[in-house]
Amino acid sequence: MDLKLSGKLVLVTGSTSGIGKGAAKSFLQEGARVIINGRTEAGVNAVVEELSSIGTVYGITADVSKAEDCEYLVKKVNKIGDLDVLVNNTGIFEVKPFLEVTDEEWLNYYQVNVLSAVRLSRAFLQEMMERNFGRIINLASEAGIKPYPELVPYGVSKTSLITLSRGLAEITKGTGVTVNSILPGPTWTEGFAQFITDLANEKGQDLDTFIKEYFKNDQPTSLIQRYATVEEVADTIVFLASENASAINGVAQRVEGGIIQSIL
Ligand code: NAD
Repeated sequence: MDLKLSGKLVLVTGSTSGIGKGAAKSFLQEGARVIINGRTEAGVNAVVEELSSIGTVYGITADVSKAEDCEYLVKKVNKIGDLDVLVNNTGIFEVKPFLEVTDEEWLNYYQVNVLSAVRLSRAFLQEMMERNFGRIINLASEAGIKPYPELVPYGVSKTSLITLSRGLAEITKGTGVTVNSILPGPTWTEGFAQFITDLANEKGQDLDTFIKEYFKNDQPTSLIQRYATVEEVADTIVFLASENASAINGVAQRVEGGIIQSIL
């Protein structure tokens, strides 16, 4: 299948590791030009260098939780060219009891997980509609529709992103622009691998047993009974960005291995 992404300009926020980096790689493999973003120049440069053997890669250092950095990022992107695909991937989470989460932490979740996507969508949506092509893809989470008690602010921020995506999709009516959210479930990124390995070590269990027991006891509705791979999530992002997915607009696309026990 030709995804017709060749030459398209793609910005993936928070793409120096994890799903963002995986998506950047998949876009490059489809011939797209990709802008890597992260908070440190060293981190951005390292990924630009690593991926530049696959295709055309640019790097822009910016903290997308800050309004002034978003403004800077938008200016830099516009200097490169017209943005075809915006992937709002940046997201943070912390396991913490609800009663201990401070107002400051709530506001930080909102800045990093929600306002980053709001600001960048506001900057690029209108122009995409004028050009009659564009894709905005927001990385939400299965936690946005299946709240976890130890991740309440994270879940709330992801529910917001799902609503944001559908709301923006409504604005695109009759144009060639689509806005969708993606809901990964537990995904085996470098960060997650470290987190889970530490938990297994704390329990004195080997990693395989720990993972099997996690899915059996904590995620019994998972149909795949394993972590999704970064590539599985990345390829879903890339497909939704393609011209082949032009009829998919305003959806919350799950890549959660069936954890959400629902037909819709
Ligand atoms: P990750 O932590 O591995 O990578 C996030 C990237 O964002 C990092 O490169 C980090 O440096 C960057 N980043 C963080 N804050 C930033 C900021 N303010 N400005 C710019 N860059 C910033 O994350 P991941 O696990 O790959 O997750 C990617 C997205 O997918 C997130 O939105 C996350 O909530 C969502 N998600 C992940 C999982 C999972 O299991 N990994 C599950 C569901 C949803």
